[in-house]
Amino acid sequence: MCRHLAYLGPPVSPAELLVEPPYGLYRQSWAPRMQRHGTVNADGFGLGWYAEGQPHPARYRRAVPIWADENFTDLARVLRTGALLAAVRSATASTTAGEAAAAPYAADGWLFSHNGALTGWPKATGAVAELLEPAELLGLEARCDSALVWALLRRRLRSGQEPARALAGTVREVARCTEARLNLLLTDGKVIAATTWGDTLFHRLELGRSVRVASEPGDDGPGWTPVPDRSVLLATPDAVTVHPLDSALREDP
Ligand code: GLN
Repeated sequence: MCRHLAYLGPPVSPAELLVEPPYGLYRQSWAPRMQRHGTVNADGFGLGWYAEGQPHPARYRRAVPIWADENFTDLARVLRTGALLAAVRSATASTTAGEAAAAPYAADGWLFSHNGALTGWPKATGAVAELLEPAELLGLEARCDSALVWALLRRRLRSGQEPARALAGTVREVARCTEARLNLLLTDGKVIAATTWGDTLFHRLELGRSVRVASEPGDDGPGWTPVPDRSVLLATPDAVTVHPLDSALREDP
């Protein structure tokens, strides 16, 4: 995914979060302002959201550009949610074009998106694949570098690691094996965790009310704070913490 966003706060419509902001994710699909790699994000899109009292999110993903899907416009207008993760995709070469590769990926109540790429995928990234068991490789959700990263992250989450620690550990694991860009975004509907490793990321906190974490600001209003490269972020409507990934990496066994 080349641009992504997560939100926690009072219930709003996806249209308010994605379509109405003048430079929001919807517009970022054809006119991103800060994207470092690729130009447009027209290879699909997806949103995942949590309904009240439901720990497992619903998803709507398509392999078409977000602007080409009239169903999205309707859904985005009427849905309401207090926790959402959405992404627009610019597919990495040699990955599948299907909707199974459109973020967010989902499992065990988590939603996940990857803005970036494993350099030289798939040929030069065999060492990453070797970190997985054959059954995990066969179970990948899509023929896509992001699905591989997701499988590694899921393993850490299943073993009970906290989200920020699991993300940091996954970045370390992958970066040890291959060159990669790894802006990862994760939520369980209660916290947002993210990394920066090669692309832009911002957060906007309205203390005690809402928080947004996004590849780039959706408007020119105040409050958007850039996240330095090689950081790990943890955000709720009550606090945002950002730590250098290098120190987080050193702590990880
Ligand atoms: N590698 C991921 C994909 O192909 C993400 C691509 C990106 O960030 N542009 O979906």
